[in-house]
Amino acid sequence: MKQFQYVRAANQKAAISALTKNASAQFIAGGTNLIDLMKRGITSPDTIIDINNLPIKAIEAYAGGIRIGALALNSEVSENKLVIQKHPLLAQALNAGASAQLRNMATVGGNMMQRTRCPYFYDTALPCNKRQPGTGCSALEGFNRMHAIFGHSDTCIAVHPSDMCVALVALDATALVTGHKGNRRIAFADFHRLPGDTPQKDNNIERGELITGVEIPDNSFTKNVHYLKIRDRASYAFALVSVAAALNQEGNTIKDARLAMGGVAHKPWRLHEAEKALIGKKVSEESFRNAAEIAMKGAKGFKYNSFKLKMAPNAIVEALKTAAGMA
Ligand SMILES: Cc1cc2nc3c(=O)[nH]c(=O)nc-3n(C[C@H](O)[C@H](O)[C@H](O)COP(=O)(O)OP(=O)(O)OC[C@H]3O[C@@H](n4cnc5c(N)ncnc54)[C@H](O)[C@@H]3O)c2cc1C
Repeated sequence: MKQFQYVRAANQKAAISALTKNASAQFIAGGTNLIDLMKRGITSPDTIIDINNLPIKAIEAYAGGIRIGALALNSEVSENKLVIQKHPLLAQALNAGASAQLRNMATVGGNMMQRTRCPYFYDTALPCNKRQPGTGCSALEGFNRMHAIFGHSDTCIAVHPSDMCVALVALDATALVTGHKGNRRIAFADFHRLPGDTPQKDNNIERGELITGVEIPDNSFTKNVHYLKIRDRASYAFALVSVAAALNQEGNTIKDARLAMGGVAHKPWRLHEAEKALIGKKVSEESFRNAAEIAMKGAKGFKYNSFKLKMAPNAIVEALKTAAGMA
């Protein structure tokens, strides 16, 4: 690992200014992704700016929602009473991620910024447009079992690995960001990007910006929710396919629905059309199967991940059935 300087930021202004002044500097929060990337030579900052002393850790209610600080640990969020009461889908998604030890280190901001787990991104001996733009995508013709079936491009077929972000996009969260130009609010759906011609950019954060938190507006999805994660091991594994499902049921009728998938695209994948198709329908396997069919429109698999074309709609149906109390 390349030698680096360690700096502890005393306040937000100092953190942002340290990052803006030095093109090679990076923030560190829990370090569970950044240190791995540094050890493998994928990123080599000459300075790491520890942001753990910044006052952006609280989980609190505001009129109309809850605000979660960027430094709140994944375990603190999933165990928080407000979160469990108002957004059980988020708590479930967090608990499906990584392992207990990692969740005790990983922060909300770091989870949003974590890089893909595509093996070719991690293998510095092989081409990867995300790691080194212009070199090519080894996954296109390689072992692409974990890769995208939606929104991919000729330059990159990697997926975003987060579980938490799948729930946050379903819950219409907003990312709170601050930088030398001031504060910004970014709708969660616009936070992460599709690869297009610039797969090196995972998200729409600008250089020098700090995530300070996430806001989730109050909603009625407090009961009939389920986060289903299908993976190779029961713990400590990234999703092959995951589904965040939330229903607002009145009797046997669906009043409102939220659906998003993980493990299928370069960003958490919200399923607006499938949601619309559920509204006003009966709570039934038939309605769920119809929504799943709509959700899969435009999906395209590769040599080793075509199984996801079947797994994903089945996972949507299963998640909806569990959310509805039918499973
Ligand atoms: C073995 C293993 C298994 C895992 N399994 C899962 C899983 O199943 N599901 C899942 O969702 N995740 C999983 N993870 C990923 C884990 O959740 C992330 O590594 C973690 O959330 C990153 O948070 P962190 O605070 O440690 O970030 P760090 O490693 O400290 O930082 C990561 C990146 O975020 C940037 N950053 C951090 N905070 C901010 C901020 N406030 N503003 C701007 N930039 C910031 C850093 O500069 C860095 O680029 C796994 C990780 C490991 C190692």
